[in-house]
Amino acid sequence: MRFDIMTLFPEMVMGVLSESIIGRAQEAGVITVKAHNIRDFSKDKHRKTDDTPYGGGRGMVMTCQPIYDCYTHILGELGEGEKPHVVYTSPKGRLFDHGVATELSRYTNLIILCGHYEGVDQRVLDEIVDEEISIGDYVLTGGELPACILVDAVSRLIDGTLPEAVCHEDESVASGILEYPQYTKPRSFMGREVPEILLSGDHAKIDRWRLERAVELTRERRPDLLLLHPEKEEALKPKTKRKRTRTEDGAAT
Ligand code: SAM
Repeated sequence: MRFDIMTLFPEMVMGVLSESIIGRAQEAGVITVKAHNIRDFSKDKHRKTDDTPYGGGRGMVMTCQPIYDCYTHILGELGEGEKPHVVYTSPKGRLFDHGVATELSRYTNLIILCGHYEGVDQRVLDEIVDEEISIGDYVLTGGELPACILVDAVSRLIDGTLPEAVCHEDESVASGILEYPQYTKPRSFMGREVPEILLSGDHAKIDRWRLERAVELTRERRPDLLLLHPEKEEALKPKTKRKRTRTEDGAAT
């Protein structure tokens, strides 16, 4: 999968996305991430990319021309084929979650536009953007951090990004509920011991303990998830055996 990010701060985006698992996924060719500097496409003699808002008011608005030219440049790089899906990171967008990440992971090419200042001239959004996505009900200074979050969360869902031993389907929210608490060495830390059951080697008991903790934690912090996934709690209930009874003529039911 390829991500093209349109931004005024490409180093900010690439700095974050070149590290760790997402950096290694790029080296391995599982994903490609390219940041394009919108300023490079400005036809203004001072390479301006923003201007004052029509109608007055505070702040600056990103202008159409450099963004549109940056977009057509990316289309040229991608060449013929499937139309890329274009996302504008915006507090006005639909809220990002695991379901949205899964949807986005199905595209071959994703273009992400990062806004800044008071935002972007509506006309270029209407022209090129397929959807607006918000990473939460708060306002950031720019779309670069949201773009990194989108790329990270979507990339984890692509085969080959995570080491085989780590399955994203087992993790919080992706599994339907929150994950159980994790422990590693040493066995004792500041007088706090690792739960005895995790040292038992009895994998059936460990699996049950983990499910119990996961359900408990979810009930406490995100009861809404348990309403969507009642089967998780059901799995902890003892299976009731159906009582065999006999009818008057002695037949078993
Ligand atoms: N004036 C805009 C408004 O009220 O909707 C906010 C602009 S914000 C200061 C600048 C840029 O940061 C936005 O264009 C957007 O790209 C990005 N941004 C800020 N908060 C965001 C959020 N919660 N989710 C996604 N992007 C966000």
